[in-house]
Amino acid sequence: MEKVIANLNEILAKINLVCAEKSINPQSIELIAASKFRDVEVLRALNDDGRVTVFGENKVQEFKNKYDENLTWDIIGQLQTNKVKYVVGKVRYISSVDRIALAAEIDRIASQRNVVQKCLIEVNSGEEDCKGGLTVGEVDSFLTELHKFSHIKICGIMAVAPQGVGEENLKKCFKKVKEKFDEINARDVDFNVLSMGMSEDFLTAIECGSNQVRLGRILFGERPQVL
Ligand SMILES: *Cc1c(COP(=O)(O)O)cnc(C)c1O
Repeated sequence: MEKVIANLNEILAKINLVCAEKSINPQSIELIAASKFRDVEVLRALNDDGRVTVFGENKVQEFKNKYDENLTWDIIGQLQTNKVKYVVGKVRYISSVDRIALAAEIDRIASQRNVVQKCLIEVNSGEEDCKGGLTVGEVDSFLTELHKFSHIKICGIMAVAPQGVGEENLKKCFKKVKEKFDEINARDVDFNVLSMGMSEDFLTAIECGSNQVRLGRILFGERPQVL
């Protein structure tokens, strides 16, 4: 745990530096722990430290195993429609809404439970075929379609950047998403989360206007190998 706290100190120092350079308020950046494969005991200890208090899980099964109602959780991984019932009302955000069928199921379950589920839409900023997520060009019509769901509240965008494209292309990708985000944020004040940036690229993402970063390895160390 000491190592995690030391990593966190370093991460925050780096964020403060970039924010100072770019005149960004560091308090406006939310750190989420991408907590897949990490023990819930470690997450509780981190939560007690008080500087990272949201845990982003990828897989519903793992989320169910770890779930502790005293912690705040997001679902940041691809979500199957048949697993929606295990997360609605238990997570702060479902951050990976990228298709109408998924939104419809979230809305249906949320309505049954008499809650409004907050969500982010997932945008694939590099527009790779292999990943989930909408293209930037699809965002407006997708949001319009989501209007019919009264038990979902869309609070922003989660974007996953392409890997290994070089700093310039990476910035281009982030900036394109940021532009779209600003456009929507200007007409909808509740659309205010821009989640971009992971261990490899969080500083660049912050420079480009991200206000939520999802950190795994840089916070916890290398992930245990799964066989
Ligand atoms: C694992 C994961 C992260 C964190 O990845 P690291 O490179 O370990 O920081 C962020 N976002 C999503 C969606 C993830 O699955």
